[in-house]
Amino acid sequence: MRPKFIVDVNVGRLATWLRIMGYDAAFPRTASDNELVRLALKQDRLLITRDSGFLLRRSVRLGQLRMLYVVADDLRGQLRQLIRELHLNLDNGFSRCLRCNEPLAPVDKAAVADQIPDYVARTQTVFSQCSSCRRVYWPGTHWSNMISELARANQEE
Ligand SMILES: [Zn+2]
Repeated sequence: MRPKFIVDVNVGRLATWLRIMGYDAAFPRTASDNELVRLALKQDRLLITRDSGFLLRRSVRLGQLRMLYVVADDLRGQLRQLIRELHLNLDNGFSRCLRCNEPLAPVDKAAVADQIPDYVARTQTVFSQCSSCRRVYWPGTHWSNMISELARANQEE
């Protein structure tokens, strides 16, 4: 089972990066601290936060609530900590909508022709679509840029 996450607003960008890596990352941006804890426990999600206050919570001390306390200030350092401490990989990368966290499904180019730019239609063959927002994804240059960013984050000290 791949771990599922819930991301606090103070590290909100990490929700997108977890989704890029294909992980289920809930990001309830208006949730209170108590709601975050309740959702994490109810949905068996690991909480990712920069708020050290969570470390003092009873549910964390008792080991009921799993959490990662993010130390680094910068995004790259945060990604590095995430990848290393949670043993993340890209095996299921690009399988989830970056906007809504829903799994993507393969879709025929013909079915989404009106949603993709001409040059993409000419050069790409593999497409997937979000079942919720209908956004269409393909392995373009932004994918390789994101993979490079993850690799860099993981290499630096
Ligand atoms: Zn979507």
